[in-house]
Amino acid sequence: MPLSRLTEQADIDLRDSKVLVVDDKPINIQTIYSILSPDYIILAATSGEEALQVCQDNKPDLILLDVLMPNMSGLELCKRLKEDELTQSIPVIFVTFFNQQEEEDECWRCGGIDFITKPVRPMTLKNRVKFHLTLQKQKDMLQKLVFIDGLTGIYNRRYFDDHMDSLKSKTLRTNNDTAILMIDIDEFKLYNDNYGHIKGDSALKAVTASLKKSLLRPSDYVCRYGGEEFIVVLPDTNLEGAKEVAERIRTDVFQLKMDHEHAKHKCITVSVGIASIINSHEKNVNPTEIADNKLYEAKKLGRNCIAF
Ligand code: GH3
Ligand code: MG
Ligand code: MG
Repeated sequence: MPLSRLTEQADIDLRDSKVLVVDDKPINIQTIYSILSPDYIILAATSGEEALQVCQDNKPDLILLDVLMPNMSGLELCKRLKEDELTQSIPVIFVTFFNQQEEEDECWRCGGIDFITKPVRPMTLKNRVKFHLTLQKQKDMLQKLVFIDGLTGIYNRRYFDDHMDSLKSKTLRTNNDTAILMIDIDEFKLYNDNYGHIKGDSALKAVTASLKKSLLRPSDYVCRYGGEEFIVVLPDTNLEGAKEVAERIRTDVFQLKMDHEHAKHKCITVSVGIASIINSHEKNVNPTEIADNKLYEAKKLGRNCIAF
């Protein structure tokens, strides 16, 4: 999204926002429901366990959390939410009677973003919720601008570079390999020179759609690494598995049969270089460097090829 659109949206639409209210006393949920339900979708849970389940099934945009609850306290629940990659970005506002500073400090330490004191005052509740939902939406939009490629809508190189360190440590810690594929469109300069940049851009979008379709697991992702170069990340995949995916990617693009009269195969094709994090770690080389070298080998093999 261009920056101009971002600033135009100063008054961000929050109507579809979901607020999860967690309190062991239904009457407290009812009170908050009556204040917020005209503006937001309200989800409710009367225990920490139930709240965790709601977060998995129907992820809320914000959580209003009671501190004192039997079994799992609000503090414990907040800690658990912050430990889970799926839920850690959800803002948590504690709703409680504050008697002691120690309790208040503990809420901050657990990852709470704000407090509302009981009994809740409608105006304060409404404004705090609106403020934090707006902030979160703005943050999401900025992240999109920073990490998404404008032409193709997929992750960009910055996202990949940012993600690489944690991916490497997770792979080495669990000893479950992660494969990296470097993909480059063959003879694409000739395509642009012959058909023009507008058609070149459309071809990039078509190849992107094909790459996405070739990835079957939800944890796999593709990003645009540079002009006509892509990187695919395949978690929990060894070299054997990666070869299969690379071959599928190559065939799927070939089968698009997009005319490229000056290319060897008369259609758009890709070459793929394969590397794995564990193998490259053993060789003390960066996996992207290995994938890039293998891509070069695939080009030398005649293009429309994979190399590992
Ligand atoms: P090879 O088979 O060796 O990969 O040859 P190539 O022509 O694909 O590689 P080269 O690196 O020489 O050229 C890449 C070309 O990709 C240059 C440019 O014309 C095109 N390209 C890069 N980014 C974009 C883009 O955003 N849009 C369009 N339309 N073309 C792009
Ligand atoms: Mg190329
Ligand atoms: Mg290239």
